[in-house]
Amino acid sequence: MSRRSLLGRTAAVAAGATALTATAAGTAAAATTRDVDVAIVGGGLAGLTAARDLVAAGRTVAVLEARDRVGGRVVNLPLANGGVTEGGGEFIGPTQDRIKALADSLGVATFATYNTGKNLLYKDGKKTPYATDGLLGSVPPVDVAGLANAAIVQASLDDMAKQVPVDAPWTAAKAAEWDKQTFESWLNANAVVPSAKFLLDVACTSIFSAEPRELSLLFVLFYIAAAGNASTPGTLERLTETANGAQELRFVGGSQLVPIRLAATLGDRVVQNAPVRTIARSGAKYVVTADGITVTAKRVVVAVPPPLAARIQYDPLLPAARDQLTQRLPMASVGKAIAIYDTPFWRADGLNGQVVSDTGVISSTFDNSPPDASYGALMGFIEADEARKLDAASEAEVRAAVLKDYVTYFGEKAASPSSFVLQRWNNEAYTRGGPVSIAAPGVLTQYGPALRAPVGGIHWAGTETSLYWMGFMDGAVRSGERVAKEVLAAL
Ligand SMILES: Cc1cc2nc3c(=O)[nH]c(=O)nc-3n(C[C@H](O)[C@H](O)[C@H](O)COP(=O)(O)OP(=O)(O)OC[C@H]3O[C@@H](n4cnc5c(N)ncnc54)[C@H](O)[C@@H]3O)c2cc1C
Repeated sequence: MSRRSLLGRTAAVAAGATALTATAAGTAAAATTRDVDVAIVGGGLAGLTAARDLVAAGRTVAVLEARDRVGGRVVNLPLANGGVTEGGGEFIGPTQDRIKALADSLGVATFATYNTGKNLLYKDGKKTPYATDGLLGSVPPVDVAGLANAAIVQASLDDMAKQVPVDAPWTAAKAAEWDKQTFESWLNANAVVPSAKFLLDVACTSIFSAEPRELSLLFVLFYIAAAGNASTPGTLERLTETANGAQELRFVGGSQLVPIRLAATLGDRVVQNAPVRTIARSGAKYVVTADGITVTAKRVVVAVPPPLAARIQYDPLLPAARDQLTQRLPMASVGKAIAIYDTPFWRADGLNGQVVSDTGVISSTFDNSPPDASYGALMGFIEADEARKLDAASEAEVRAAVLKDYVTYFGEKAASPSSFVLQRWNNEAYTRGGPVSIAAPGVLTQYGPALRAPVGGIHWAGTETSLYWMGFMDGAVRSGERVAKEVLAAL
């Protein structure tokens, strides 16, 4: 805990603003108070974007961020060699127009994700490098029957997704039918060739970091529908691809440069180390109490993932539908492991660093080296069941398991990285999983309308509330822009 946050907590307790107990002696100071038009809970891309637009419209804001940094699920991790790598959101791609526009406005440049050379399929103990410029694109070359079945399944999913309105998936003509089954049960009936099921399972865990059994089919269809923009319908392929897909581009200097620069434009309107504990109505206003600071505001924007929003106390209570919705949108389970090498040695072997595997802790990897390739970085996702298995493991245990997989895929040179960075989102207090909240059967049709509906003067933002690119940085930015308009219309 930083000194500043410790002092903040002590002050909050002294002022009776929270029920927290100070864990160490500190000088009790009066809790800071502010009076603004809009209090914003959460300094991720959504909250910061909302703040930018509200300030541009002449409104006063305070952004209360729990962590000692901005960016939330987007974080740059410093490396021993002086570089940075990304522990959370990293890639952007076509139709993700709003994150791109934001980055452009802040002078954060993009570069192409390394995609030269062959992908690697590791299946049934066998390594198969494969080119991605053929008819199949990056689809791993399983047996012909499996490929044919997977192609039909993919086309069906895209067709069904076209019938899902992104602003109200629960109103789709077949919403009830699609929301009463898991993606797993649908796949079992449709991906009948085992290798096709393997391809769809891998796609599912790499997109959601959740197992197919955890997801409602309707939710999966909505997610596909949302992988586009108002003029370009979403497709499964855009979610999974590197070239022409969601993994196409990266940010020079690391993705967290975007929220860091955005927060800098907002100055001391952004308050860090300020986890919000309560939001209470007081006459025509709201009193938002965080550790060390109390903000009075006409409107409140809550820009945190739904399960985190449920940990704030509301007075008066939220409507049951809203609370029960947030009880039913858990975070998926994810970690990232990045091994740093003197060179991206796999490139010399004709590999692009992208693996699809049916085994191991890491079943999906990327070449995360910097644009000048001055060192090599192999990034692997730890997803779903694999992430949960390792939640309580030591960093040394995770490192050993990850490097074992990297050696299997890329050879002995992978055994000895110069450094190793691990980011485990399930263990992060103010995220508790990732990349996104997920919905099991019955949630969207029963509770969907409560996702964005304001409750009095409290408005909801965050990538989970976006019509397009829900679950992505682009969705976070879009949600911030939408909520700012909503609040401005209401003020
Ligand atoms: C491992 C991983 C990989 C990902 N990969 C990609 C990718 O390649 N491309 C992509 O586009 N997206 C990716 N994402 C998703 C992307 O990072 C998120 O969709 C996006 O950053 C969400 O932004 P947000 O502002 O909606 O929420 P968040 O970033 O979660 O921001 C919410 C903020 O609220 C704060 N907070 C929480 N509770 C409180 C409280 N009580 N009081 C005050 N503050 C609070 C948090 O600290 C956080 O800063 C990935 C995410 C993860 C975890």
